[in-house]
Amino acid sequence: MKLKKLSIVFILVSILVATSDLLLVYISYKNSKQSLQYGLEQKTFQLQNTYQLTLAQVGGFMRQTAAYIANDERVNQLFLEGSRAVAAEGGGAGGIEALRIRKELYQLVSSGWNEMTKNYKGRQLHFHLPIAVSFLRVHKPDKFGDDLSDIRHSIVVANTTLENTIGFESGRVYAGVRGVVPVFSKDPETGNKIHIGALEAGTSFALMLQQLKETLSADFAILMTIEHTKNTMWPEFIKEYSLTHPIINNHLLEGFTNKTQVKSLMKNISVQQLLNKEKTILTKINGQYFGVGVFPLRNYLGTVDSTRKSIGSVLVWFSAENEVRDFDKGLINSILVAIIGFIVVELLIYFGLIFESKLIKQSQMAMTDGLTDIPNRHYFNVMFKQELLQAKRNNQSLSLILCDIDYFKQYNDHYGHIMGDKALQLVAKTIKLQLKRKIDFVARYGGEEFIIVLSAANKTTSVKIAKAIQNAVYELKIEHQTRLDNETRITISSGIICYTPASKTVIPEKVINMADKALYQAKFNGRNQIAYYNDII
Ligand code: GH3
Ligand code: MG
Ligand code: MG
Repeated sequence: MKLKKLSIVFILVSILVATSDLLLVYISYKNSKQSLQYGLEQKTFQLQNTYQLTLAQVGGFMRQTAAYIANDERVNQLFLEGSRAVAAEGGGAGGIEALRIRKELYQLVSSGWNEMTKNYKGRQLHFHLPIAVSFLRVHKPDKFGDDLSDIRHSIVVANTTLENTIGFESGRVYAGVRGVVPVFSKDPETGNKIHIGALEAGTSFALMLQQLKETLSADFAILMTIEHTKNTMWPEFIKEYSLTHPIINNHLLEGFTNKTQVKSLMKNISVQQLLNKEKTILTKINGQYFGVGVFPLRNYLGTVDSTRKSIGSVLVWFSAENEVRDFDKGLINSILVAIIGFIVVELLIYFGLIFESKLIKQSQMAMTDGLTDIPNRHYFNVMFKQELLQAKRNNQSLSLILCDIDYFKQYNDHYGHIMGDKALQLVAKTIKLQLKRKIDFVARYGGEEFIIVLSAANKTTSVKIAKAIQNAVYELKIEHQTRLDNETRITISSGIICYTPASKTVIPEKVINMADKALYQAKFNGRNQIAYYNDII
């Protein structure tokens, strides 16, 4: 019974250990996942910062270029003449004189600018009259005279505040990273310094992104919303532009470091969901893990006023193979630790329980009679004391039956000890079988004596049981020819006492003595019978 309980305990504890093990693995998995995610976000954040710094530097470089050209006296003198010609010829594109001066200015700066375009990815060199009327596009000399004030805020601001500006902006022909400076010239008549307009120099993202890729081992893509593109660029240029800058998922690919990968990323639903969200995710490209992050693409106006809507997104992606490998390693390690921990704990519990069960067995052995396998006298002594206290507490009676095999010495002498032992085993088993209630028990009291405790039993019950036992033993029909009476089978005699303890300090031996007295009476009366203590006295 106790051993069964031990195995239930073992199973329950094992389930508990396994559950807490699984919980630990789950917690460590969650933590590693979180730190993996945190690592990817940090990387995106660093890339965003570097991108912004580089963008500011490229803008600054463009501004320097514009300032250098604008400071050339021949340039600003021609621009002054041009601005006066336009004013004289009705503004906008101006007339013939303005056209002549424009050509002259173009010839002056175009070869240097073409060099810049070829070697350093220069894109725009654009003279603007206030507030933002195109005077000369060196990169597109046949387009001029148009008002750009609604889209080219960097020009409007430079021409209004007479301060230089930098930033990404999309124009009629190209989008670009631009630096704008106000242009001044000396009035040939008065000698006064006068403001003529603004000059901007611009470049594409290409060179900057390539440099970022090389130093940061990350890929970039500049995605401008198609809505913003349509609002700023001339339709015929969008068409031409999209040959080299594909339109994917409502975004124009303004700049990129890896066309194939950005195309594959843009097909990925989780990347699509990422746009406009400023998040970082882990995804696979061609079976390789990548961290993909997004941050807003801001134009000049967006940088000046951060409450403005972004005009698209900057997509960055970088290999996350090492991070994922570390994550997998961590997970495998924690699973291994959990498994080893589980095995160790299980072994400890197992051996602990085996030890415990051995102790139980030993204590059971200490309480059991080796020959008959029923409780021994020690067990009886312990239990009988408790039974007496219990009977006292409940104010109930208990019965004690002392059984003794008749003429057993003669049996042994005649049939031998082995037969004697067998007879003892049979008698013990028979007595036990007659006790139907779980609380009643029989113990081997001495050589061929058995003692039975019937709790909460009165005289009638105990007499009935004692008789049943006597009959059952008689019915075993164990031959015993050497008895000193006329009987020829093994029989038992029993002494019964039904006792209600009057005090807690009742001495068990007293009660046993009463049963013994009754047993003596039964022997005296002729054996194979029962005697009840009260009837004797
Ligand atoms: P009575 O009817 O008065 O009880 O006579 P008895 O011979 O049974 O009583 P006695 O006390 O003279 O003898 C008891 C005998 O029981 C002595 C011994 O031979 C036998 N005996 C006691 N323990 C064992 C045992 O473990 N195995 C065997 N085989 N015999 C035992
Ligand atoms: Mg005896
Ligand atoms: Mg005897």
